Amino acid sequence: MKTVEFFKKKQVLSFEVFPPKRTSPIETIYSTLDELKGLHPDYISVTYGAGGSLNNNKTLEIAANIKNRYEFESVAHLPCINLTKEDVLLALNTIRENGIENILALRGDINPDITPCTDFSHASDLVAFIREHGDFNIIGACYPEGHPESKSIVDDIYNLKRKVDAGVSQLTTQLFLDNEYFYTFRERVALAGINVPIEAGIMPVVNKKQIERMVSLCGVHLPTKFIKMMARYENNPIAMRDAGIAYAVDQIVDLAAQGVDGIHLYTMNNPYIAQKIYEAVYRLLAA
Ligand code: FAD
Repeated sequence: MKTVEFFKKKQVLSFEVFPPKRTSPIETIYSTLDELKGLHPDYISVTYGAGGSLNNNKTLEIAANIKNRYEFESVAHLPCINLTKEDVLLALNTIRENGIENILALRGDINPDITPCTDFSHASDLVAFIREHGDFNIIGACYPEGHPESKSIVDDIYNLKRKVDAGVSQLTTQLFLDNEYFYTFRERVALAGINVPIEAGIMPVVNKKQIERMVSLCGVHLPTKFIKMMARYENNPIAMRDAGIAYAVDQIVDLAAQGVDGIHLYTMNNPYIAQKIYEAVYRLLAA
């Protein structure tokens, strides 16, 4: 099933997982998925070499298992920066053969240790290529605070419009910690004539290291109440985890009330956190 169909019925709730590191056995992700199985997200997406890492070879295998063994709709992330057109065609064949209908088409994070391929410069090039080679539901990434490389928010939204026009039918945002950025972004994209569903990407922040990485990678704004929470609990991991969960739930309650199309939960492969958030919000999104 194409995940865009879910938005016609309700506010969507999806989960994101990532493949285990190369040094960890593949089974670690399946024990995570075993625990997520009792929850009922509308779909689960699987990252591919996020952060420019090379642990991407298992993405399609995991996405296929989510679809065929766990019987959730799955989304395969596909970043193109280090792929040739032939690589993409091979990936599309594997995706198709496994009955996966949904692809998050990305440019990908630039890894300074890898010289990028030149077949695709932007995600919109990949979107057009996928559209040409199959009947997939194509999802795109977007950035409420602007993509860190973009010249301006206006320029970024102009590029987003080109990406959607190339064949994207739903969008998922980068994480944000201040919902006001999301509401302003939602207005701006509507004014730009972008009218596909937008899922809000929510990452429960549960330790200080995670924040430092996030700020350096995505340049996300840290609100004062968030900084105070971190300062108060940074040396108490359990309290920090619980505060991070509560913060994410608070964001989701506000987003749900303000008519968000969906919530995409970055689970960090942590079933405990996914379960706590799911239990707190699933009735709100189903209402
Ligand atoms: P693009 O849409 O190509 O945009 C990148 C930059 O180029 C922006 O500044 C944009 O304004 C600009 N731009 C776009 N088109 C043009 C154009 N035609 N001309 C000039 N400038 C242009 N990365 C991974 O490696 N693996 C993952 O699994 C992964 N999952 C993600 C999931 C989500 C929900 C999100 C939000 C991001 C994810 N990323 C992942 C990160 C993503 O790959 C990076 O943020 C990357 O830097 C940009 O990817 P994009 O697809 O948004 O690129």
